[in-house]
Amino acid sequence: MKKFDVAIAGGGVIGGAIALELARAGLRVAVFDRQHPGREASWASAGILSPAPENPGMVVMVPLGKASLALYPEFVAQVEEISGKTTGFRPKGTLEALFSRDTKAELSTIIALHHGLGLRAEPLGAEDARQFEPALNEEVAAAVLRPDEASVDNRALTAAILEAAQRSGAEVFSGNGAKAMWREKNRCAGLVLENERVAAQWTIIAAGCFSVTIEGIAPYAPVRPAKGQMAALRADHLKMERVLWSEKVYLVPRNDGRIVAGATVEYAGFDKRTTAGGIEKILSAAIELAPGLAEARIEEMWAGLRPDSPDHLPILGPTDIDGLLIATGHFRSGILLTPVTARLVREWIIEQRVSVDWDRFSPLRFQTEKTDATNTMPA
Ligand SMILES: Cc1cc2nc3c(=O)[nH]c(=O)nc-3n(C[C@H](O)[C@H](O)[C@H](O)COP(=O)(O)OP(=O)(O)OC[C@H]3O[C@@H](n4cnc5c(N)ncnc54)[C@H](O)[C@@H]3O)c2cc1C
Repeated sequence: MKKFDVAIAGGGVIGGAIALELARAGLRVAVFDRQHPGREASWASAGILSPAPENPGMVVMVPLGKASLALYPEFVAQVEEISGKTTGFRPKGTLEALFSRDTKAELSTIIALHHGLGLRAEPLGAEDARQFEPALNEEVAAAVLRPDEASVDNRALTAAILEAAQRSGAEVFSGNGAKAMWREKNRCAGLVLENERVAAQWTIIAAGCFSVTIEGIAPYAPVRPAKGQMAALRADHLKMERVLWSEKVYLVPRNDGRIVAGATVEYAGFDKRTTAGGIEKILSAAIELAPGLAEARIEEMWAGLRPDSPDHLPILGPTDIDGLLIATGHFRSGILLTPVTARLVREWIIEQRVSVDWDRFSPLRFQTEKTDATNTMPA
């Protein structure tokens, strides 16, 4: 039987980064993926690195996102150095375009919200916005520049992380998925794979939205897939430096000249097909934001499955089963949260205390909710 210090189920950006961090800390680490690693959400993503909350429910995640963004420059430098591969990191800021008529009020609300959360944001008039990004629609009324935000080529990053993990001593096994956690009384002794068991002192579930299908994991990681459709465009004469947002779409320029446009959020089970309606929505919003894209070639269309949790927040940390940790539920921010997730897991395992406030993200919170609900039921 194979024996490791750490067995990780799932070789996406999260499992790969944890493997890298723990292998570098001197542990014997193995990653098991049911298919070729790095081909699910981490491949399908847009790679925007933005800790700004999309809605009030996500405000509690801002400190975690800020901590992770701050780690990014050093993290990618290390990954690139160890792997010998580039990651397409672009620390160039992002720009959110506003089209509404009452932009003055909207702008001051957005800026106040960001400043209240300790996030840098600058208001821009229409002319300044178009000077920064000439591809913007002339009808844009104002914009918000978030200079600290960035993007990364998530496909390149995931491949580089997996390579760096292996070069640091981690073993990666493809086509060998986890069926269940191997439970012995109140201890997790490793993973039950398709045809064998592997023993490990620590077992980490990082199988994205599929984590819920691993026997024994659903109470801790009740995740579900949130499908996102995307398109990659190429426009020869259109200049775009930063990530551009509108209410309806984002556009992410890559170093190779592609512009990635996305994304839908759909709850359609594990279905990864693109649809005419989904792609039409993305393309028309992309052309509204940057009209020059009407002439762009469509190079690729795809869909991926985000790991969404019941409260849309990540699920991180130890469980009440000894040796079992969860690292999933990163929903729309898994690329952003990769460095901090890897660091947290290392701290839990090696130092047994963590440097950031993570209680809100505990895998035990769903059981508490269930107990609370049971307690309030009439006798
Ligand atoms: C369209 C789209 C756009 C996105 N945009 C952004 C963005 O701009 N910024 C951002 O920060 N985040 C974004 N995200 C979210 C981000 O991509 C995810 O949160 C992140 O990739 C999750 O990584 P992961 O490693 O947990 O999961 P995944 O990448 O899904 O990896 C899970 C791995 O587990 C494997 N697996 C499955 N079942 C098993 C099993 N039983 N045993 C072993 N292995 C198994 C899979 O094969 C896969 O390799 C986006 C996601 C999508 C889909």
